[in-house]
Amino acid sequence: MSTRYLPSDWTLPELTDWNRPFFTAGRLTIQYCTDCADYQHPPLDFCHRCQGEGLEYRESAGTGTVDNYSVVHHAGNSRLKESLPYNVVLVEPADAPGVLVLGNLVDQDWPDRLRIGASVRCVFAEVADPGTGEVLRLPQWTFADGPEPAVFTDVDRRRSAS
Ligand SMILES: [Zn+2]
Repeated sequence: MSTRYLPSDWTLPELTDWNRPFFTAGRLTIQYCTDCADYQHPPLDFCHRCQGEGLEYRESAGTGTVDNYSVVHHAGNSRLKESLPYNVVLVEPADAPGVLVLGNLVDQDWPDRLRIGASVRCVFAEVADPGTGEVLRLPQWTFADGPEPAVFTDVDRRRSAS
């Protein structure tokens, strides 16, 4: 298990039949509508574009660009004070254009380097839900040319190395 970017007791996503692949796969997994041939995120039980139900999940290569970001300096929740300042990024995966995936950029040098258009790749914070014991792999982001973040697990690399 790894240390999280936000506090270790910060609220975890509630898993549903639709978002479970995204939060547990350890690969960037994006919902795809076979009826209108397009990606959507966050995952839903129907396509927000055509209202079809022909939905499947496709694995992204996990690289993308920062579409937008915010740097938070004032904690809206007292449990986040120790993390200030922290960033929130919206990333467009290279192989799922039009999709935006929310996360945090975990590199330590983000204050100097975080820009719109920055090239990033997905890494995962592994966390066991204390209520269910289920292991979540929360998608996070690191600069594409940056070092491996020490506390995050790149499951794709671990799989390909073994
Ligand atoms: Zn559709």
